[in-house]
Order: sequence, then structure tokens, then C-alpha cells
Amino acid sequence: MKELICIVCPKGCRLTVDEENGYKVSGNSCKRGEEYGKMELINPVRVITSTVAVENSVHRRCPVKTNGAIPKKLIFDAMKTLDGIKVKAPIKRGQKIAENVCSTGVDFIAVRDIF
Ligand code: SF4
Repeated sequence: MKELICIVCPKGCRLTVDEENGYKVSGNSCKRGEEYGKMELINPVRVITSTVAVENSVHRRCPVKTNGAIPKKLIFDAMKTLDGIKVKAPIKRGQKIAENVCSTGVDFIAVRDIF
């Protein structure tokens, strides 16, 4: 049995996942918590947020995030892909900053417009 807090929504339900019984989840208030509990033990994934350097703007950094969840074990490698990236303003929200991060098919995208 593994106990964890569901991070899918602010309610933060306390989940119990039984690995020996088909990853049966209890303590969840909704279906999303059941899916999260199972996946957290089978293949935990996260959306990654960070920033990249900006050129040609008063803003020195642009916030970015992945446009999908990637395996937790790839977080540090994914962050390294942003090292040395400098993006020229103007930057549009949703603009791809780094494609196919760690061959996951997920991209880093800009979170806001930068002028
Ligand atoms: S189980 Fe459902 S209600 Fe509870 S924290 Fe997760 S998403 Fe929110």
C-alpha cells in the first residue's frame, strides 16, 4: 500500500494505492484521482515549468512550460534542454521554445507574450 496526496486539484485528497491488487485506489473523491493514483505508481508524469532568457526586451526571462506531461524521471534532462536558449522578442504566448523535449513528443512553449 502506498499513500499519497492527489495533486490534480486543490482539494488534495489522501489516496491509498494497493499495488498488489491491480493498483486499486481509495480515498479519491473523483475519477481523476483514481487515474492519478494509478499513474503515480506505474509511470509518474509532470508538466514542467521554467524560464528562458529573452533578447530585445525589457523582460529578461520568459516563463515556459511543457504542453503536456512528461515522465518524472526526465525532468532534469528536460530542464537541461533550456540551457543556453535565448529567444528574441517579440514572443507570442504558445510559441514553441524547444520541440520534442527528450524525444517525448512534448514541447516547451511560452506562457505569456513578451514585447
Ligand atoms: S481525487 Fe479528485 S477531488 Fe480529490 S484531489 Fe484528486 S482530483 Fe481533486
